[in-house]
Amino acid sequence: MTDNPIPWDLLPDTAEIVEGRLQIGGCDVIDVAEEFGTPVFIYDEKHLVSRCDEAVGAFGEGVAYASKAFLCRAMARIANEAGMHIDVATGGEMHVALAAGVPGDRLVFHGNNKSSDELAMAIDAGISRIVVDSFDEMDRIEALVGSGRVPPRVLLRVNPGIEAHTHEYLQTGVPDSKFGFPLSKGIAVEAIERARASDAMEFLGLHAHIGSQVFDVDNFAKAIEALAPFVKESGAMEFSIGGGLGVAYVEGEEADTITAWAEIVLDAVHRSGINARILAEPGRSIVAQAAVTAYTVGTIKDLPDVRTYLSVDGGLSDNPRPVLYGSGYEAMLARDPEGPRPMRARIVGKHCEAGDIIVREACLPADTKIGDILCTPVTGAYGHSMGSNYNKVARPAVVFVKEGEARLVIERETYDDLLLKDIG
Ligand code: PLP
Repeated sequence: MTDNPIPWDLLPDTAEIVEGRLQIGGCDVIDVAEEFGTPVFIYDEKHLVSRCDEAVGAFGEGVAYASKAFLCRAMARIANEAGMHIDVATGGEMHVALAAGVPGDRLVFHGNNKSSDELAMAIDAGISRIVVDSFDEMDRIEALVGSGRVPPRVLLRVNPGIEAHTHEYLQTGVPDSKFGFPLSKGIAVEAIERARASDAMEFLGLHAHIGSQVFDVDNFAKAIEALAPFVKESGAMEFSIGGGLGVAYVEGEEADTITAWAEIVLDAVHRSGINARILAEPGRSIVAQAAVTAYTVGTIKDLPDVRTYLSVDGGLSDNPRPVLYGSGYEAMLARDPEGPRPMRARIVGKHCEAGDIIVREACLPADTKIGDILCTPVTGAYGHSMGSNYNKVARPAVVFVKEGEARLVIERETYDDLLLKDIG
């Protein structure tokens, strides 16, 4: 931890300092906060488009945006217009993507417990691919096709048993996981045989997602090497390596670009002699660094010989990652983005929860005061999408900024919105 200004590469692509204040997408962050209120997620639209373009350039069309990272109709349109497919993991995500005008045949449907209703919705929408996760799901697809629906094209999710270096809850390719058909004990082979023999599905290939926030891209190469004999034997025409590329959140972290990740993946595929079409599903690496969250500082409490607590007007309801995973963030003031940050404080939210921490040990300018607009960068992924209404805190607004214009894409919830489904 240093007193240095925030590392600039954590900020969205178009971030700049104008008259000493932070601008993103040509918009002054303090002005955006004043216009739309705080907390507010501010997304750099050019950054989003550039990462979608990069993913399509690196992996080709058919690469899917993992919408669980952040989804609203404006985001779905950006990914779709860039030529990405969209990975949806629930009927709800599918509904939003379809409502954005994304055609069903550009959607890939994931999930370890898809209901018959969700599967019917996907097939009726002309889903591009269903990534089948269990034998029970095969039963459901067979029943739906048996009652007159068109057989969907499927990939089978397999679990390679690879341990990615990331947080335990983010590891999905370890042997003990709820996702996929394990390679061990012949379970994945049995699944392939069943899918191939079934008239109710068209087997296209395999899918393996080893985890999220994976910094060491060699893990992807290892997973591919481990799976290669199996992929080749299965006769898969397609092989999806899922998502999971890590993203830098704090000073000192370094992550590969989507292009570099694709090179490692495609090289490992080539070396292992896999002949299938390669698909991928980046989420975090598309959206994480595109956004900052702007909060207003509300309370500063000095506990002598203990620490300073600095409370803002959001918290775990707009960013649950620190509580869930112990994730780290940096903080900065929009009015002083380039000054030294000698003050140490714990940035906390407004929830009735001692663990409601946003930044455990933040570095801030010495004159940080009540009313300042405080920004946490790299909040574009798994923040708004994992948010909640805990303590009946209304969800924040989401604003896209581009070329000097700030466009509201998700309105801030009102107190009355909290009563919409409460019928007394
Ligand atoms: N694909 C699948 C199946 C996933 O489970 C996830 C995330 O958990 C992703 C893609 C996206 O991963 P990330 O956002 O880390 O790129």
